[in-house]
Amino acid sequence: MPGEKCGLFGAKCFNNRCAFDFLYWGLIAQNHRGHESYGFLTCDKGFRRHVNVGLVPQISGRRYSRWRNFLRGSVGIAHVRYGTSGERGLSKLDYAQPLISSHGNEKIGFAFNGNIVNTYDLNNRLADKFGENEAFCDALVFSKYLVSNIGSGLISAIEDCMKNVEGAFSVLGLRNNGELFAFRDPLGIRPLSMGESEDGMIKAFSSETVGFNINGLRFIGDVKPGEAVVITKDDVKRERLVKSERTAFCAFEYAYFARPDSFLNGKYVYSVREEFGRNLGKRFKDIVEKADLILSMPETAEDAAYGLHEETGLKWERILRRHRYVTRRAFILEPDERVSTVDKKINIMDGGLNGKRVIIVDDSIVRGDTTRTVVSKIRKAGAEKIYVFVTFPRITHPCFYGIDMATFNELIGFRFDEEGIAKQIGADGVFYQPLEDYIRATGMSVNELCTACITGEYPTETAQKMAEAAKSSMKIEDQRRIYERPELFRK
Ligand code: SF4
Repeated sequence: MPGEKCGLFGAKCFNNRCAFDFLYWGLIAQNHRGHESYGFLTCDKGFRRHVNVGLVPQISGRRYSRWRNFLRGSVGIAHVRYGTSGERGLSKLDYAQPLISSHGNEKIGFAFNGNIVNTYDLNNRLADKFGENEAFCDALVFSKYLVSNIGSGLISAIEDCMKNVEGAFSVLGLRNNGELFAFRDPLGIRPLSMGESEDGMIKAFSSETVGFNINGLRFIGDVKPGEAVVITKDDVKRERLVKSERTAFCAFEYAYFARPDSFLNGKYVYSVREEFGRNLGKRFKDIVEKADLILSMPETAEDAAYGLHEETGLKWERILRRHRYVTRRAFILEPDERVSTVDKKINIMDGGLNGKRVIIVDDSIVRGDTTRTVVSKIRKAGAEKIYVFVTFPRITHPCFYGIDMATFNELIGFRFDEEGIAKQIGADGVFYQPLEDYIRATGMSVNELCTACITGEYPTETAQKMAEAAKSSMKIEDQRRIYERPELFRK
């Protein structure tokens, strides 16, 4: 069943301004979080919904006015999607969010970022209430689960989700009475922040704070793990429904997913990435001494490359450049598309690499094909030695919480050690930032971060069981994502 790793934006205007103006720019700022589909849902005497596949289009003039007029209303939610299971592709309009679910007299709009681990179990429980079991993705199962319990009150239905839905979820919802609500799983795995206008008349939610910046809104804080926020027609209610002993914010957001100018848990992402680079310089002094140049994978590794340059004084050459309008993020594509996209996306300027010993800074190595493509281009450009410095520690385990690396076999870091990985990608050495350095740079503690894909220690029980069962029953030919194999957790 499809899961999601996505971007969210929601807005409520107490001064009757059109919410679409904020939703549109909120999504444009967060399009890096999902390229497969986008969607808007507003409420104006009933729901008004528009979803489509691909990137959020750049619209202006009359076209913008038409959209604005159709998506009228002072409250709404919006979503960009990147699916972490099920078939991807541009025909997948069915999976586009926000979704609308109803039960009895209740009708809700629902947009979700994360991935549910116990979807099959929840879906079975819903069969009694919805008759025929028609749900085909985890977002739909989740929204149905929520709406089916809303009769007992919105807060108690959200609390039920927090106790019975397992996985990562940051949710935005809209009721047909115009109430806007938001909540985050008790471990706070995926980000979700709150913002407002200077006069407090616009309230907003965004996966990343860049969604507020583009709209001229100010960031006022995160929706806390296990917290629900409900914005009614005249006030804002916040309630911490579940308080866990630990939290588990996704460590990978810092290395790869979030924008560098987003503010996560008290720090700008770019400043954390610079610290990653400084850490690599301190840890691998012997390699730095042997190198002539630092190169960086555009654009997620550039801040780390700057940190490495600052720490070591080694020259940083921005010889690798991105073709700006090849917008697809390689990591989230199908394997055959991935290699050709990287090939088209990254341009190497000739001339500066002949006979040089270079360090390439990369944010992460998941399957290895992206890095392999770039290493081979740099080799062709004449580099004599190529060392790869990686800011995210070696990924050895799958993710069940919304990043699309959901089997052991696809992970090069599961199949090979550092030496083997270097051989596979054609480099002279691969050097990962140690986990303790990584955690220190984020400013978080080990009990506040999820690092399951590095350590194999999952912060939720079913995920841990699934990983162990999958590892012991692993067949090389089984390409299904582990959370799409119910036999592993029904035992
Ligand atoms: S397993 Fe890795 S990618 Fe997935 S949520 Fe945890 S840290 Fe993030």
